Amino acid sequence: MKTVRVYRADTIAAASHMKNVLAQYEITAEIRNDCLLSLAGSIPIGESLVELWVKALDFRRATDLVKATLDPVHSEKIKIWVCENCSEEVEEYFAVCWSCGAISN
Ligand SMILES: [Zn+2]
Repeated sequence: MKTVRVYRADTIAAASHMKNVLAQYEITAEIRNDCLLSLAGSIPIGESLVELWVKALDFRRATDLVKATLDPVHSEKIKIWVCENCSEEVEEYFAVCWSCGAISN
């Protein structure tokens, strides 16, 4: 399964928090580079940040959730529709259920 980086943080706590936020939406994220923070200052800052990686399939949802979490005031609240086929909750900007592929009404 292809994975992509969705978030970078300067603390493990921040990365863990975001991982938990994504988990609430059933997005599995993996923390990487968590052992490089101790090298901050001796390697370029961009290489010492803690990274959060998700499956490519989850990237768009995860990106929106990260943005909404970092800036809840300026991010529009994510609206949900419930799939009539499988009862999955799907963010409104998706016309197709991410779980079963049914089309929104
Ligand atoms: Zn569905």
